[in-house]
Amino acid sequence: MSDLKARFADRIIDGKAFAEGLRARIGAAVGEIKVAHGLTPSLAVVLVGEDPASQVYVRNKGRAAEAAGIVAADHRLDATTSQDELLALVATLNDDPTVHGILVQLPLPDQIDPAAVIDAIDPAKDVDGFHVVNTGRLATGQMSGPNAALVPCTPLGCRMMLEDRLGDLSGLEAVVLGRSNIVGKPMAQLLTQASCTVTVAHSRTRDLAAVCRRADILVAAVGRPQMVQGDWIKPGAAVIDVGINRVPKPTDDDPDKMGLVGDVDFDAAIAVAGAITPVPGGVGPMTIACLLANTVTAACRQNGVEAPVW
Ligand code: NDP
Repeated sequence: MSDLKARFADRIIDGKAFAEGLRARIGAAVGEIKVAHGLTPSLAVVLVGEDPASQVYVRNKGRAAEAAGIVAADHRLDATTSQDELLALVATLNDDPTVHGILVQLPLPDQIDPAAVIDAIDPAKDVDGFHVVNTGRLATGQMSGPNAALVPCTPLGCRMMLEDRLGDLSGLEAVVLGRSNIVGKPMAQLLTQASCTVTVAHSRTRDLAAVCRRADILVAAVGRPQMVQGDWIKPGAAVIDVGINRVPKPTDDDPDKMGLVGDVDFDAAIAVAGAITPVPGGVGPMTIACLLANTVTAACRQNGVEAPVW
């Protein structure tokens, strides 16, 4: 652990440890559901092509699912797969009652329109929460009952960590930096539902630093290495760093070494923030844990079983 991490250890939101706890609860719930209802949640993960990062993500998701007692099936398709071939696989998985969750790993090769594929997934099995039915349910606050939204995994995990650290979020000033469909927008929806006052900032926002400095909760999801500086952060704020950026991190032994950094300058931020997620070991592990939670939720809803509350 670096000196700074040791000095400010109580400020670190340990996403890895939080995710381990959540995964243990998911594993216990899966065991109970199997015994009580004879139901084994299952997840189909579809990977098209050989993008190395996607291969790692898919492998990690499969392993995590199996460790929680969820059946995980990989469907690996050639990089030259046509859109029609992929849609045919999605249709087969939609029709298979033993498959409860479907995840098509993004990005897809250029010949395939990701929106067409996401649209084709049965919303009840859309464990990524990207289908317009699920984004619509999230936007309209349909969060409980058999037709509740399946919520995108990354913002879901961020909200869990914030509530765990801060308790009731109502009335807090939240700034979400980034407005993508998979992180920024659903994050803003979840924080609005938690009764925060939410600002969504993006590449056209004027005086970004001043906007960020207003935030009691700052969620950075821009994909720009260490863009958020220490003096952009209100003293005591909770900072959630979603960014995963691969950058050179040369050492004496290995001048070509690469490493991961977030969208926040961690060393500067931890001296100011009240709480902060590290990269790696913050949001990333929670994203996978929430995928498992969504799979169990989807399996329960499809089988008339009351879904656990995570
Ligand atoms: P996108 O590229 O889809 O969106 C980035 C957003 O950041 C856009 O809204 C963009 O604004 C905004 N932005 C970009 N540059 C600037 C800038 N200089 N100033 C202000 N705003 C800016 O990214 P994602 O949302 O998919 O991902 C964001 C980051 O999170 C990435 O690093 C990604 O790897 C990581 N990620 C991590 C996950 C995890 O599990 N930890 C999961 C998903 C993503 P505009 O809309 O105006 O272009």
